[in-house]
Amino acid sequence: MTKQPRPESKGRPAATSNKQKRAALRKKREAKVRKEARLRRTERVDVAVIKGAIAADLSQQVPNNSYAAKPLSYVDQPFACKDCGKEEVWTAAQQKWYYEVAKGSLYGRAVRCRACRKRRRPNNPSVSTK
Ligand SMILES: [Zn+2]
Repeated sequence: MTKQPRPESKGRPAATSNKQKRAALRKKREAKVRKEARLRRTERVDVAVIKGAIAADLSQQVPNNSYAAKPLSYVDQPFACKDCGKEEVWTAAQQKWYYEVAKGSLYGRAVRCRACRKRRRPNNPSVSTK
């Protein structure tokens, strides 16, 4: 914050009208609001840079020794199915669910398309994504 020189000290009688005082106050308030908005924007920058990214809740992820493996945010990830080769997208929302709700391993990645996963399910209900 830069200090602006005050031409008139507060000791002076109210030569300036209340109107001016109110205007000054309002200006101050608006500046504060703008500053807060700016702060909020910068906090969100790391996630906002990548379009469609979802912020990760690290406290919900499975504990892991390797900080490198901890995703800070989730981004849609295209992948080719391991079984049929079909291209599919592992969405940011699916990743959040997998890591934070299903408590999947942080090394786990989507490897099979939806159809192949479904096909495997009846034989193996606890099918892993490995
Ligand atoms: Zn497939």
